[in-house]
Amino acid sequence: MPKPLNPAFADLPVTIFSVMSDLANEHGAINLGQGFPDTDGPESMRRVAAQAILEGPNQYPQSRGIEELRQAVARHEQRFYGLETDWRSEVIVSAGATEALAVSLYAMIEEGDEVIVLEPAYDSYVPVLRAVGGIPVFVPLRSPDWRLDEEALRAAFSDRTKALILNTPMNPTGKVFTREELSLIAGLLQQHDVYAICDEVYEHLVFSGNRHLPLMALPGMRNRCVRIASAGKTFSLTGWRVGFITAGRALADSIARTHQFINFCTVPALQHAVAVGLDSDDAYYQSLADDLQSCRDLLAAGLENIGFRVLPCQGAYFLIADYSRLDPESRADDFCRKLTVEAGVAAIPVSAFYQPGAAAVTDKLIRFCFCKQPAVLEEALQRLLRYLG
Ligand code: PMP
Repeated sequence: MPKPLNPAFADLPVTIFSVMSDLANEHGAINLGQGFPDTDGPESMRRVAAQAILEGPNQYPQSRGIEELRQAVARHEQRFYGLETDWRSEVIVSAGATEALAVSLYAMIEEGDEVIVLEPAYDSYVPVLRAVGGIPVFVPLRSPDWRLDEEALRAAFSDRTKALILNTPMNPTGKVFTREELSLIAGLLQQHDVYAICDEVYEHLVFSGNRHLPLMALPGMRNRCVRIASAGKTFSLTGWRVGFITAGRALADSIARTHQFINFCTVPALQHAVAVGLDSDDAYYQSLADDLQSCRDLLAAGLENIGFRVLPCQGAYFLIADYSRLDPESRADDFCRKLTVEAGVAAIPVSAFYQPGAAAVTDKLIRFCFCKQPAVLEEALQRLLRYLG
């Protein structure tokens, strides 16, 4: 028998996202499961990247990121949130938010530290947290409004709590946390001397007059929060793997030391292009949100018409739909499989974002991704109508 590998990763199942994407490919289904846009981001940015590759240099840039991008990040933080950020000591460019989340956990969490995770939770948080010896303490949010329960949150804090992971705008719920909810969290973080890892990759994808507010912008939070953003989401360039972290100097120093051994640096040409992109005018940011909002509305109306009950969505690019009127018997993963194979449209069961025992909370809920071209969404709706109608 060979020696066992690290069970933190070796024992993980293949994610439902890969399972459903493979099934979608196999059956020619429209993939509204995994969240990625089906059109590439701004051509102007792609041209900057192409030119920068041709002109070079293509060698290791500074580990924390090229100066031009870190300066653009500092301007972005000021422009959108009024946050003063020292680009030299408080910004780190990462390989997407995925690396940013991992290096933040590595930098902060020691064996036995508790970390509060609000469920439903994005799937990378818990495996990395466990791998570094942290203990997740789950606080479930419940449909249909995904309200943060004050008592449950209070009860999750202990003298071993090191950090809380907050995702707003939230995948998969589309929830944008309100100032009141953020103030409640901020008060508890201060009371218990706890850090926050703020996954804000969907910061610019907010609809219908809602506004994204970083926890970091609340009083007393500036040096407690690690704010994580993703150029992949903001510029529809998910394959580029460019993200960025802002944090107070002490946290940023520790994260930068972790980053130097995990990824060291990110592709310099892509960093040049993202620096240009971040300085885009307001019209770019507005049209990104407006276009997605009309995709959301198209998909929501179509799903309602078919008989789904669609939950409200304030941000990110996912809709949650309750299918109990259409198929009261099937479990969500079976229903998703049926939709993929028989209707030709892939979706993801919301239970995939909860720990196994908590799945009953989300019975009959599935997630559809709407960052697709309107014609693709319309074709998906027609297929669903033919199958379920
Ligand atoms: N956090 C959340 C909530 C996400 O939905 C995603 C991407 N699906 C990520 C982080 C990872 O982002 P990136 O592609 O920049 O690594």
